[in-house]
Amino acid sequence: MKKPEIITVIIAIIAVVLLTALILARPVYLALNPEETTGSAEESTEETSAEETTGAEVTTEAAEITTEPVTVPVTEPVTEPVTEPVTEPITEPVTEPVTEPVTEPITEPLTEPVTEPETTAAEAWRLLYTPKHIEGSESVGITSSGYAIEVKDGITYVGGILIANKTYTLPETYRPSEYMGKEWVAKLLPEAQTAFEKMQADFKAENPRASGFKIQSAYRSYSYQGGLYDNYVKRDGKAAADRYSARAGHSEHQTGLGADINPVGTSTLTEAIKNTTEGKWLAENSWKYGFILRYPEGKEEITGYLYEPWHFRYVGIEAAAAIHMSGLTLEEFLGITSVYAD
Ligand SMILES: [Zn+2]
Repeated sequence: MKKPEIITVIIAIIAVVLLTALILARPVYLALNPEETTGSAEESTEETSAEETTGAEVTTEAAEITTEPVTVPVTEPVTEPVTEPVTEPITEPVTEPVTEPVTEPITEPLTEPVTEPETTAAEAWRLLYTPKHIEGSESVGITSSGYAIEVKDGITYVGGILIANKTYTLPETYRPSEYMGKEWVAKLLPEAQTAFEKMQADFKAENPRASGFKIQSAYRSYSYQGGLYDNYVKRDGKAAADRYSARAGHSEHQTGLGADINPVGTSTLTEAIKNTTEGKWLAENSWKYGFILRYPEGKEEITGYLYEPWHFRYVGIEAAAAIHMSGLTLEEFLGITSVYAD
């Protein structure tokens, strides 16, 4: 052989050796650095067969031409070994952690807290009050709030609280012994009366310059209430009277536990009391003494009566605290209605 021929052969051998080294080294490098090929990994699969042949041809060509081989042979080994190991580990760990934590925490906290708090808050406040069982009563049902409805001597108790509203009546004969022979008394039953007097004294102590408050009207007999109601019907009509006056047997005044409270020096019951020192204080503090504002503003559909900022009902401190804190009416708290049957 001539000298230039030998050089050509040597160059060709070196080129082949280098190419082989490159071909062998490339997959190893890529296996160690999988990210590099992610984009091309999927694309290349379809082309594999076509390129396999070209790659084979190129290798022979490459033996003669040093410039070309570098680009072409590289594609062949890249497609096969790289596609498999690269696609699997990359797609799985990347998609899962990204989609899951993003969608879950966002949808859940948004929907749940909006619906739950209202019910859970009411439930939480209900825990403040332990329902009482009325000894010797007959259980006639359970309210929507889960309280037992018990009847004894024709009187209905819900969760142990005596109920007199448009749904639940008091017998015509029901008259606490304290009121025997009386049709109307500005005095509550002993326990409630004691609580009222304490409340009255505390208000005066806190507000020495205010005139104070008194009971305008407390107990009314069945027949006395009936007479009042009939007069209101004559004056305003039945529909109107039903919004502010109870029919006989449906009034809390017959229980001796409901009282109309007025500032001293005022004899008519008007909404103006809500703006007086006395009215504001009672609305905020009466629960501490066991009283609840029985007919709050805007609750006529639930309680059956128009707003009466003067009418308070004694239910005991435990129940009053729970009901006041819940912001619910007595009907809502206990899960009962106040609607006349006819
Ligand atoms: Zn009243």
